[in-house]
Amino acid sequence: MKIAIAGAGAMGSRFGKMLQDSGQTVTLIDNWAAHVSQIQKHGLLVHTDGQEQIVKFEAFQPSELNFQQFDLIILFTKAMQMEGMLQDIQKAIGHNTKILVLANGIGNIETIEHFIPRKQIIAGVTVWSSELDGPGEITLTGTGSVTLQAVQPDDNNALFLQQLVTLMNNAKLNVTVSNSVIEAIWKKAAFNCVLNTYTSLISCNVGEFGAFSNRDFLIDNVLNEITSVAKAMKVPFNKQETLDLILSQFKPGQNGSHYASMYQDLSQNRLTEIDYLNGYIAKKGAEFHIPTPVNSLLTALIHCREELNQMQK
Ligand code: NAD
Repeated sequence: MKIAIAGAGAMGSRFGKMLQDSGQTVTLIDNWAAHVSQIQKHGLLVHTDGQEQIVKFEAFQPSELNFQQFDLIILFTKAMQMEGMLQDIQKAIGHNTKILVLANGIGNIETIEHFIPRKQIIAGVTVWSSELDGPGEITLTGTGSVTLQAVQPDDNNALFLQQLVTLMNNAKLNVTVSNSVIEAIWKKAAFNCVLNTYTSLISCNVGEFGAFSNRDFLIDNVLNEITSVAKAMKVPFNKQETLDLILSQFKPGQNGSHYASMYQDLSQNRLTEIDYLNGYIAKKGAEFHIPTPVNSLLTALIHCREELNQMQK
């Protein structure tokens, strides 16, 4: 299978590395010139548990793609970069190209649908993690899994999905096929709407947030609005399961000392995925006439933090 990773940052490079280790040939596509150039000249330097490995890849900026088309494109930009990436790689997407999206946030499928038919989209969530240390260098952290589903299942993509799952599991990516991936996407997004957003605004880690006396009030207000919006949109969303997942993070030995990715994005002066988390809930709330004052306010506050970062640059 001819595979490209579009957005070869922390996660894209990790998936590329694991697939390539399993014998697949993977092309990395990224618009960060220094990163691409480093991979082209020296390979990708991968740190895992104190060990170092150089992995050789074919790597391109989108403008260097030269009309090659792929059977599978794994889209791994941040949610707000997805549209730009899809515009940049249009010539690499053929009538039979499947796009797999595992990025965080809600609304990614809607973005991709502007570029290809739903039957070519496979969506999911992943709890793998990775860090981008600098151009051509990543650190792999922990283990993980992937849950995915064809957005519009039919006989043609059922066969492709089977091949994809086998290929990804050969790369030890721990893939399972779900029949409710939209629910999984919303659950992960709702988890992030609570933990990423509050801990970023308060500047605390997950364990500190879990110890706040008013944490249940804060969590409930976000989840109640998500529940109402999901109901209006006829999307399956289980508030209790999401709450249990959030509360499980506060147990000793879990992720207490972890700083959320949004906190790290703001600390490093990067834009956040807020418009695809609380911002998506606020936007859909307005569309469906559901009041979402809490998610709207949290979205505005995170945008203030992004703007403040720009002012202080
Ligand atoms: P990242 O910022 O490390 O990587 C994104 C890459 O996309 C960057 O290298 C960037 O240069 C590239 N890019 C952006 N726009 C582009 C364009 N138009 N053309 C070409 N390249 C472009 O992000 P990440 O941490 O790998 O996260 C990707 C997604 O996965 C996000 O939705 C994130 O929330 C999710 N996620 C990340 C982790 C993690 O541990 N890093 C874990 C789970 C999920």
